[in-house]
Order: sequence, then structure tokens, then C-alpha cells
Amino acid sequence: MRNLMVLGKLAFAGLFALSLVACGGSEKTEETAKVDKKVETIHWKMVTTWPKNFPGLGTAAEELAKNITKMSNGRLDIKVYAAGELVPALEVFDAVSRGTAEIGHSTAYYWKGKAPAVQFFSSVPFGMTAQEFNAWIEYGGGLKLWEEVYAPFNIIPMAVGNTGAQMGGWFNKEINSLADFQGLKVRMPGLGGEVLKKVGAVTVNLPGSEMFTALQTGTIDATEWVGPYNDLAFGLYKAAKYYYYPGWQEPGSAVEALINKDAFNALPDDLQEVVRSAAQQANLNMLSEFTARNNAALKTLVDEHHVILKKFPKDLLEALRVASDETQKEVAANDPMSQKVYDSFTDFLTSVSEWHDISERAFINARATD
Ligand code: CA
Repeated sequence: MRNLMVLGKLAFAGLFALSLVACGGSEKTEETAKVDKKVETIHWKMVTTWPKNFPGLGTAAEELAKNITKMSNGRLDIKVYAAGELVPALEVFDAVSRGTAEIGHSTAYYWKGKAPAVQFFSSVPFGMTAQEFNAWIEYGGGLKLWEEVYAPFNIIPMAVGNTGAQMGGWFNKEINSLADFQGLKVRMPGLGGEVLKKVGAVTVNLPGSEMFTALQTGTIDATEWVGPYNDLAFGLYKAAKYYYYPGWQEPGSAVEALINKDAFNALPDDLQEVVRSAAQQANLNMLSEFTARNNAALKTLVDEHHVILKKFPKDLLEALRVASDETQKEVAANDPMSQKVYDSFTDFLTSVSEWHDISERAFINARATD
């Protein structure tokens, strides 16, 4: 069907060109070029930090690329490269910045070495949920700040997914108090990793592809990854015994599209809108998918793989929350852009918390049966 439509358009373009030839005149070259340009296919490369076809994250990148191609009727064609296929996982930002790839699919906290303020655009420990983050981005000034942080790198950011609240992670030893974090080697990126450093842990930032082996061989003692759906697919239950909640470090992690500014600006207006609309659709879709699949995956982990599910003790969470507040204030104090983002983030979180205390939280508490 689509092929027929494309053929129809080409035939129309051909007739149009012929009629110009028949009319004669010098405008024909310019007009023909304009028509040809309309059916020209633009090719983009998408680099990602995710392993090939990785459920939820890798597949979302593929889906986004496919949707943009479909919505543009094939005019913007995007080829997706998994981590390591074109560039290593943690070089996505640089690749998009210099234009090696036109678009990237990742999450912002991996780039804190570029600009510390990026850490507020993945997930902030004890920060906003997915719904709150999206509200800040779309209606609370978050997106403008995000664009400002990425502008010096020639990158336009867009939210293209959210995992919702994550899990606290996989541990090979029980965590009963802050002292248990002393010297513990934990894979935890972003601000969560900084918080754990503050309480004595040794944190490392490893991409997903290296995480499983590191945990299995004891190079690390614990790792956080995403939630049941992703963690089951990764087989993390084969490498660690205890599965902790809640995911204090990532209450709603945003997945981003990084778009090379020159490549985006070179698109005609309608294709720019296609990219924006596809991003919004992807953003909502991922949250729905994770919400639906996490529960089923958690049952499999516990019932079939005998994972020991454990809740972090309350006093431990309180201590982590205090360390988290300190960490965020320090990041802000050391960098004016981080301070600006921190202020906006914190103000929005305070006000939305007041509303959510009497709406979402009050309702979920009221619904609970225990
Ligand atoms: Ca995570």
C-alpha cells in the first residue's frame, strides 16, 4: 500500500516536471529540484547505550526509529545501532555531539562528566516519579533547562520513555544498616552512586553489557539495573541472591533521545514535528509497558527463580535520603547550571509533592488492603 502511494507521488512528480518542460521557461530546473527534494529520503543513524534487542530499552529505541520512519512515510529513515555496533555504550553522547550519529537513545546521568547538571534529567534519588518528572519537563520549565544544558554540545534532548520506579538492586549480601555499605562495590550510576559513596560504598559506572559478568565474578558486590522486567531478561538472578526495594536511587528514570542540532535543524518543519510527536508517543508508551510487565516478571523471579525479595530498612532509607539531599546540594553548589536546574527541580518537587500527598499517595494508601 505504502509502495503504491510512493509510486503515485513519484508519478505525480514526473508529470509535474514534464508539464514544466512542456511550458518551457527557466523556472523548470528550480521547480523540479523542489519536487525531487520532497521525496528525498533522509538517512539517520541512531546509536544507543543498550544491548541489541534488549527488552524495554533496546526495543524502545527500535520502535522509536520505526515509528519515525512510518510517520514520515519513509522520508526519514533511521538505522539503529546497539551498544558497541557503531560506538561503545558510553560514547553515545560524543557520537551525537560530533554528528557521527544524528540521534542517540540513552539516559542523561551517563554524561555527568560532560556537565554535572545532566544528572537531574535521568532520575534523582528520592526525587520525582515518572508522572511528576513529565509534568516538570512539559509544564514546569524542565525541558527548557534540559535544552540549555545540552546546547553547548550541539545536542537537543527529548524525553522518549520512562521506566517508572525502579528496584533498589541485586545484592550478594544482606543490607541491614548503613555500615553494610562500607567498602561494598556497587554498580550505581548517577546521583545514586554519589550518595552511596557518601555512606562508604565504592561505586562504579558500568554499562549493562559489562554488569552481569562483573557481578558474577565478584568484581562488584551489588548492582542496580532497572526493574523486574529488565532484570529478569538480563538473568541477574543468576548472579545475585537478594533483590531489594524500593529503588530510592531512581524513582522514575527518564530515557532520552539526543539529537544532533544541525541534523534536526536541517529537517523540514513537518519532519521535525514527526520526531517530536514520535518522542512523545514513545515517552508514554514505555511507562505503560514497564508498568504492565514488571509485575508479571517479579512473580517469575520470586516463584520460578526463588529470588529473595527484601525491603531496605526504614532507618537506612532515611539515612540515604539525608545523604541524597546533601549530595544534590553539593552538586548544585559546585556548578551554576546545576544550581539553576536543582532550584527548578526542587521547587517543582516540593509543590507537586503537596498535591500528590493528597491525591496519588492518599489514594494508593486508601486502596491498600494490608
Ligand atoms: Ca537504574
